[in-house]
Amino acid sequence: MEQRRMDYHLHTYHSMDGRQSVDDLCRTMAARGVEEICLTEHIEPGHPDDNADIPPVWPVYMEEIRQAREKYPRLTIRAGVEIGDNPLLRPQIKKDLAALDLDFHLLSLHLVNGVDPYYSDLYFGGKTRDQAYREYAEAKAESILDWEDFDSVAHIGYAAKFSIYTGPERALIYDDAPDVFDEILRHIIRLGKCLEVNTSGYASTGDTFAHSTIIKRYIELGGENFTFGSDSHAVDRNYADIERAKDMVRALGGKYQASFDRRKMTLWRI
Ligand SMILES: [Zn+2]
Ligand SMILES: [Zn+2]
Repeated sequence: MEQRRMDYHLHTYHSMDGRQSVDDLCRTMAARGVEEICLTEHIEPGHPDDNADIPPVWPVYMEEIRQAREKYPRLTIRAGVEIGDNPLLRPQIKKDLAALDLDFHLLSLHLVNGVDPYYSDLYFGGKTRDQAYREYAEAKAESILDWEDFDSVAHIGYAAKFSIYTGPERALIYDDAPDVFDEILRHIIRLGKCLEVNTSGYASTGDTFAHSTIIKRYIELGGENFTFGSDSHAVDRNYADIERAKDMVRALGGKYQASFDRRKMTLWRI
């Protein structure tokens, strides 16, 4: 089994908050010696911010990826989606996804009971730290436990990215909701899916999303499969800290890094 340089969480202009073209992305990744990338553009059905709820124009997205594959033959380029789950619209989201022919479904959650923690005053206001973090964990569990048809679970601990807490209180760790995280992790393991290691956490919490304590528990419970993603929205962060995160997961005993071709998983050594 070989190792592979891959980044499985990436945004371009096809996401409302992307600040790079597909060509910018592929050119910089090829220059950084990356072998495989997967674009994971946002869908955010029912997000209260109208600017967030703008899905890619799928035929245009697929055509640009097709062109990039021709231009960068040595870079494997996958077409994926970051599913911004919303319990109120979930049946429709599942139906819409089934109609798309994508390589990778990254199950994500940005809305916690209708509020995106991105709006930190709104989300954290009037709650203790424990309440805010537990509410996030429970919403994430509610989301994941209602899905089976996904490939990897994105950035567990997302709420901490915009936390009003600082220092050691900022990161959302396993001990903040151990019972809830166990449910989440057991569900992922039972289905043979992947846990994402998202390196955008380093800048905000000094650790990954999911936090290393949650990754450690996943491995303890028998979890073996991971995807790694920078969650980059601009050229400066493409493949940022992926090797650092792989070193960390390897040291914890993590085994496999997954890639996906039309939803079919291939495992690589981390
Ligand atoms: Zn996200
Ligand atoms: Zn993302």
